[in-house]
Amino acid sequence: MKSPDSLDVASHCARAALAMMERNKVPPHPENYAIWYAYVAGRNPELTAAIDAILNAGKKFTSKVNDELYERFAVFPQDTAELREVGQRVEEAVGRVLEYLSNANQGTTSYGAALEDFSGKLADGPSAASLPELVAGILAETKVMADLNRQLEQRLENSSNEIARLRNHLDDLKREASTDALTQLANRKLFDHSLNLAVLDARASEAPLSVLMIDIDHFKQFNDTYGHQLGDQVLKLVARSLTEIAQAKDTAARYGGEEFAVILPATPLEKSMEVAESIRSQVSTKRLTNRRTGQVLGQVTLSIGAAVLKEAEAPDSLVHRADEAMYLAKRDGRNRVKSEADLENPIETAAK
Ligand code: GH3
Ligand code: MG
Ligand code: MG
Repeated sequence: MKSPDSLDVASHCARAALAMMERNKVPPHPENYAIWYAYVAGRNPELTAAIDAILNAGKKFTSKVNDELYERFAVFPQDTAELREVGQRVEEAVGRVLEYLSNANQGTTSYGAALEDFSGKLADGPSAASLPELVAGILAETKVMADLNRQLEQRLENSSNEIARLRNHLDDLKREASTDALTQLANRKLFDHSLNLAVLDARASEAPLSVLMIDIDHFKQFNDTYGHQLGDQVLKLVARSLTEIAQAKDTAARYGGEEFAVILPATPLEKSMEVAESIRSQVSTKRLTNRRTGQVLGQVTLSIGAAVLKEAEAPDSLVHRADEAMYLAKRDGRNRVKSEADLENPIETAAK
């Protein structure tokens, strides 16, 4: 993250941000404030352009517009030092390409002038004696032009290789920033971001959006018995099952520790229960053995809760309901799937 602004700068930006928000009737929620502070501080040129475009068009900052700005600009702040540096280098490389092209343009213009001069002299009916000199002149010009072209080609190729390399580097940085290192699933940050987008999509398309919260049963005991390293292998195994069962449109994430979550766009609650059941049964039927010692480690089971987005509901509240259903599955005996529908008639058994 960018280092914090000094008190003076921060106070100035804070006042200016709040004044602009008031003028544009933007409610001073923390999310909106973060966006407008970043705008006033000029932290992100894309954000500046997006807000300026709305202001210039005289459009209103409706809650939809505010949510979209937050989605686009707040969750993955584009101001880490490394990202900024890569961005800067791309800009420089593009600048060089433009410079080469402008030089090439000048080269072509002067070659064109030389050709015109040559054809003028030809039209004048040159003497036989002056012809070899004329031809030699135009050959020399042509060679200069060909050399320029070759040089340009080489430079463009170098630049385009450099841009491709920087773009890969940027993709890697983005992937690293949003991937859980152990399981290679989406991390919590990407989960939150994807869920926010999925909620906006679901509202726009009026398609059902479900979420599963998944927790490994008695995992502490597993770690205590077999050690953390085998515990990590179990986390990877669960992640593999999630990846296998989730479709391309879904987002499977490591929510934290031994908890996972899946976002299921365009999926009604009943269907999400089926997906949950497939995950639960696939994991529970795997028989684990310690490859090194051949020791049989027994079964790993999951408790899963499912919930579906309600009208005008916030993403947090959807996750909370799926979590409640997951805890109900724990209370009800673990190794099972429960949905928010079961919460209305929760089974009162011993607490977990
Ligand atoms: P429950 O069935 O109620 O969920 O019981 P539990 O033991 O799974 O739950 P609890 O919250 O008591 O313990 C979670 C355990 O998950 C504790 C911690 O050692 C383990 N855990 C969390 N993150 C990791 C990890 O990255 N690797 C390993 N090996 N274990 C982890
Ligand atoms: Mg847990
Ligand atoms: Mg657990």
